[in-house]
Amino acid sequence: MPLIDTHLHSLISYDGKDHRADLARTAAQLGIQALCFTDHYELVQDKAGLSAPWDWTETRKEHQAALALKDLPVELLYGIEIGNAHENPECARLALSEPGLDFAIGSIHFATPKLNREDHYFVSFTSAQQCRLYLDDYLTAIEEMVLWDGYDSVGHIPYPLRYMRERDGVEIGLTDFEDRLRYILSMVAKNGKAIEVNSCRSQNLMAEYGWLLGLFREEGGEYVTVGTDSHCCAHMGKGLAESNALLEANGFRYLTLFRRRKPCPIKL
Ligand SMILES: [Zn+2]
Ligand SMILES: [Zn+2]
Repeated sequence: MPLIDTHLHSLISYDGKDHRADLARTAAQLGIQALCFTDHYELVQDKAGLSAPWDWTETRKEHQAALALKDLPVELLYGIEIGNAHENPECARLALSEPGLDFAIGSIHFATPKLNREDHYFVSFTSAQQCRLYLDDYLTAIEEMVLWDGYDSVGHIPYPLRYMRERDGVEIGLTDFEDRLRYILSMVAKNGKAIEVNSCRSQNLMAEYGWLLGLFREEGGEYVTVGTDSHCCAHMGKGLAESNALLEANGFRYLTLFRRRKPCPIKL
């Protein structure tokens, strides 16, 4: 069974803790065969507007230090997690022109301007009605991001449920939005892109991922990436094997790794 983590943050991310070299060493100890580093680049800034172009200088240094490790039995890939990229496509395009880039996760962390671009992390969720308003808005942003098309894999689709359900205890799921999700997943499939199973921080959301994988397959989806979304060595590897099993249970025979922005199927 392959152990491949395609979503990982180093201290390049504002919320990351460890050096890429230390994450790579930990991966080797855990028997992980490939890692793709995907530090954050948010293309919008809360209520303050759009972000400035991404400066890769520090990321390159960090990555080179990890690549310089001798005899490391782990393939190290060079990725990025771009947030709300469709709202700032020029800066996104510039960031994605980085030579040697392997992979871009397209994520939505912020609500649309209609809901003041609030980060779901900072919203206090108190009722199903309020959650539905935010989920409706979130899916609008995902639809726009998917139509923008510059990403490789859609990151953590059930993301707001981390806060609505797991943290704030509101009973809400994605199944009320099946039609909209089918449309999103059909566009992802049609464009030859991937969706992600985010394994570590969403272990209580595995049923949600199973349901999404079923829909994605029905809509012709082929490519699924698996990532822990770890922000430190201590969380590495969590849920990778369970995510692989979930893929298999939903009829996928491969997981996907992107090299130089091309999907590479890895047999489960
Ligand atoms: Zn994210
Ligand atoms: Zn992340």
